[in-house]
Amino acid sequence: MIRIEDIIEKVEQNRPNADVELIRRAYIFSAMNHRGQKRASGEPYLIHPLEVADILADMRLDEVSVSTGLLHDVVEDTLVDLDTIRSYFGDEITRLVDGLTKIAHISNLSKEKQQAENVRKMVLAMITDVRVVLIKLADRLHNMRTMQFLKPEKRARISQETLDIYAPIAHRLGMGKMRSELEDLSFQNLYPQEYKKLAGEVETRRPELESILEKIKESIKTRLAENDVPFIEVQSRVKRLFSLWRKLKKQKITIEQVYDLIAVRIITPNDKKLPYVALSVIHDIWTPIPERFKDWIAIPRDNLYQSLHTSVIGDGGHPFEVQIRTEEMHHIAEEGVAAHWKYKESKLGKQEEDDSLDELRKTVEKLLLPLVETTEENEDSEDFIESLKLDLYPKDVYAFTPMGKVIQLQRGATPIDFAYAIHSEVGDTCTGAKIGGRIVPLRTELQNGDVVEILTTSNSKPSRDWLNYVVTAKARSRVRHWIAEQQRADSLELGRKLLEKEADKFRVSPKKLLNNEDELKRIANDYGLSRGEDLLVSIGYGKTLPRNVLMKHLGAEKFAELDPEKKKETTLQSGFKAVKRFIGLGEDAIIVKGVDNLLTTRARCCNPLRGEPIIGYISLGKGIVVHNKNCKNVKSLMVNRDRIVEVEWAKSEKEEIQSVRILATTENRTGMLAGITNAIAEIKTGIRDARANVSRDDRGLIEVTVEVFDKKHLDRVISSIEQVPGVIDVERVNS
Ligand code: MN
Repeated sequence: MIRIEDIIEKVEQNRPNADVELIRRAYIFSAMNHRGQKRASGEPYLIHPLEVADILADMRLDEVSVSTGLLHDVVEDTLVDLDTIRSYFGDEITRLVDGLTKIAHISNLSKEKQQAENVRKMVLAMITDVRVVLIKLADRLHNMRTMQFLKPEKRARISQETLDIYAPIAHRLGMGKMRSELEDLSFQNLYPQEYKKLAGEVETRRPELESILEKIKESIKTRLAENDVPFIEVQSRVKRLFSLWRKLKKQKITIEQVYDLIAVRIITPNDKKLPYVALSVIHDIWTPIPERFKDWIAIPRDNLYQSLHTSVIGDGGHPFEVQIRTEEMHHIAEEGVAAHWKYKESKLGKQEEDDSLDELRKTVEKLLLPLVETTEENEDSEDFIESLKLDLYPKDVYAFTPMGKVIQLQRGATPIDFAYAIHSEVGDTCTGAKIGGRIVPLRTELQNGDVVEILTTSNSKPSRDWLNYVVTAKARSRVRHWIAEQQRADSLELGRKLLEKEADKFRVSPKKLLNNEDELKRIANDYGLSRGEDLLVSIGYGKTLPRNVLMKHLGAEKFAELDPEKKKETTLQSGFKAVKRFIGLGEDAIIVKGVDNLLTTRARCCNPLRGEPIIGYISLGKGIVVHNKNCKNVKSLMVNRDRIVEVEWAKSEKEEIQSVRILATTENRTGMLAGITNAIAEIKTGIRDARANVSRDDRGLIEVTVEVFDKKHLDRVISSIEQVPGVIDVERVNS
């Protein structure tokens, strides 16, 4: 088992100022929490985080990355939570572990190939820090290297995911070595038969290929030396199995037809001119194949890769590829972004490191962007720069159910959207939500990777304010639908009560009428409605008058005979028509006389006073609301003309007192309050409250609440106040 001190030593070599104590603490924490856990191989689990940390140390990453490598599975696989990590290791490591834990959730999801694109987007959406990608790749690499103990199905699934997601990411980040190893391991585990066959074919040819390569290398070294071209190394290789296999499949050719089955690579010192000089030597020895020459030095690939590529016809007619690049270019080709970071950093001080990281983040975003923009993995030679956007994947947010199912929503979505996305019923009965185990308000905006648990209560109903914070169409339409249904239910209830009361007046048994489905339906049909229930709803909405319903029920003759209004008219010998009248009782309760004994309220906005012109409006749940005809709100109520009812003041046996506030503006002098209250008292009017104030422009402001019977009475009070010397203006005020 690899020792932590070896890892620390590597970090110290690469970064003399690194805080290696952090790594030691992370190691102890990881060892304690993974204690007793075993890998599929039977070895202690701790081996895995240690190996991941070692890969990261080899990538020359910082102590924070290496420590996170040690801790990366702690939250996913042990009882430790993020808060504990935070209390021991602070925010930075917590954020990285959180990112890795969220990505880990995805691994359980993608089963079908066609999901690869979505999963890739999700992974990218969750990457908030470059180091999360690098650590994730190291994690995946170690898992791929040690997957022989897993069941074949699991091996295939993980390999497919690696091919679909992680190898392309590594490629995009220019991490050639990482990508090759991930691809070859995936190929081996995913298509063991084909791998074996192809490996066999290459092995049979290998001795021959190796001897050809040796001769080529010797020729190159000799000729470079003869021409005084400095070089560090000449390497050779037989094409990797995965890329060979892909090429054979795609181009439907045989091994003999592959141009770059064998290749050599010349590494020169760090001088940009040297590869070109070496190239001229190569083209001098062998005939180049013109269309196979690529200058990636003058025009670097978008993943930072730089190199010259040429293919030539070798001795005996064997074509092969030659790659030429400087040492620095070579490091970047192998390690990509990680090396890029390293080069940048060696030139920067500690303070500039943050800027450097930020710049690197931008580079990474640019590099990763094409992965979410294209559905097909591009061929090596066909890379191109996609148009750039600021955010990698701005429109969506991916959250998870506690079972690990992914829910894709629009940005800005809340737990309510999430609940409706799971199932309409879950949304309808949602009463709360937990994110990452904590209760959160329902208006909380979801973040990528959140694990959301919806709390439901069976009888609970959606709330109207949800409309203020749902963003998905499904949630919105469901909540709207529910509100409409609720209004209908309220109207049905109100309509039933209105009809009951009206029936009572006509000495018709309310129960008999309301239970007579056929009769209600008949009347409903008369109004162009299909069901009895619709008729009641229509009454509740104020579209249909219960009195008219009774007329239809009884027939004109019987109706006239039983009409209580008519009787009253006869006895009172009054000239009233069948209009509604009402009497006020106290502050708010008003009873409509005539057609029904309906509960009414005076509108708060204008508080109509007996004697003033009035109008009624059937309001849901409040019965009839009575407004002053001149009230500014009446105009907008007129839109629902069906609900407007004519009302007028009824005569009342006893005089009813109503409180009205009056504001008098006066000159600022003493005795004004006394003068006004005296004037009111003189006309025998009660005063409930009086107070005096001075306005900013030095006027007296006197507010009195008086008790009046009606409009005429109020007018008298107002004119008597106006008579008081010093009074400038008098007006009635509404609360
Ligand atoms: Mn892991």
